Amino acid sequence: MDKDKFAEATGWNTTDKGYNLAMEQFKIQINLVETVVKKERTQCHSEDRCMARTWGTGINKGHGPQCSHKRCGGDYCKAHAKKAYESEEPCLTNPDGTKRGLWCGRIDKPLVGLDAAGVWQIRWLTDDMLEKYNDSRRHPGFKKGRYV
Ligand SMILES: [Zn+2]
Repeated sequence: MDKDKFAEATGWNTTDKGYNLAMEQFKIQINLVETVVKKERTQCHSEDRCMARTWGTGINKGHGPQCSHKRCGGDYCKAHAKKAYESEEPCLTNPDGTKRGLWCGRIDKPLVGLDAAGVWQIRWLTDDMLEKYNDSRRHPGFKKGRYV
């Protein structure tokens, strides 16, 4: 936005007192609007979002939020579709104990930390899941995988 265009659009005179300040304020407003619009465009609607659960980052770390990526075709984003193709079952491991399939499961299913053999594979950080994990640790049969 140049000086003359702003004057034309607002009817202000470029020599008016406060002209430059008003133009700067206007530029800031425009930037804010553009930022919001951009954010809305990149954040897809929840119905378009991948159905995979993730470990989470920041304040959501260990709380299993939904993947923020857009679905590609089916229920999942490109990366999770690949995992889900192996298996949609959470806490599944390869023979060497590494992760297999949709590790954190789906967002429409409850959090799962134990695998089918009763081994703790994911130690979720929600109050509820931590309590379950800590209870289980006191039992003699307690077993955990390589990521716990
Ligand atoms: Zn995903």
